[in-house]
Amino acid sequence: MSSPCARVRRVGLFGGTHGNELSGVLLVRHWQQDGAEIQRAGVQVKPFLTNPRAVERCTRYIDCDLNRVFDPESLGRPVVEDIPYEVRRAQEINHIFGPKGSDDAYDLIFDLHNTTSNMGGTIILENSRDDFTIQMVHYIKNALAPEPCPALLIEHPSLKYATTRSVAKHPVGVEVGPQPQGVARADVLDKMRKIVKHGLDFVQLFNEGNERFQHPVSCQWSILGEYFKKLHFTVKQ
Ligand SMILES: [Zn+2]
Repeated sequence: MSSPCARVRRVGLFGGTHGNELSGVLLVRHWQQDGAEIQRAGVQVKPFLTNPRAVERCTRYIDCDLNRVFDPESLGRPVVEDIPYEVRRAQEINHIFGPKGSDDAYDLIFDLHNTTSNMGGTIILENSRDDFTIQMVHYIKNALAPEPCPALLIEHPSLKYATTRSVAKHPVGVEVGPQPQGVARADVLDKMRKIVKHGLDFVQLFNEGNERFQHPVSCQWSILGEYFKKLHFTVKQ
């Protein structure tokens, strides 16, 4: 695995993991047409529609939830005709952005989701010991202030989501609401866009060796933990 100071050279921006959550879909399509705002020096940023069939039908998924099938069993499943669409898709994504857990995997993936809950823009992390993402969350929160941007930690010994973004060394979920499924609200899209922009700005600063970002800050987790406690509810992410 990478050291805390390893540069972040490849970043994936995922939209459409749930095909009826439109902010990420619209942003990814926009960035595929015009990637000017996501380009950062020395970083390869790849916008990617993860579940195009579900997007086409404007439904959460076709056969099974793409955000639950990045486990070793599904990723290693033989490709036969009746394999669920999302399992096959997970294998393709793992091929492009992974392999999950390897040095060849993408450094960072933002996976863009919407929720019907009125929770604003929330960043979801999976690892309380990932100093890079914790520092990035601090940077994004400061950049967005006074608008709140809470962080939610999903790290539980018996609750393993095997999320789409877990292919990357640093997986980051972005969940923005309220937005009904199948529609797009301008303010929600704008908030998501800002979170990604500030996240990419942080990557560039981090890579430039800004000293502020080049040391572990695990202790800062306690600050984020405060937000986590306030957000003690189930998110269908
Ligand atoms: Zn979702």
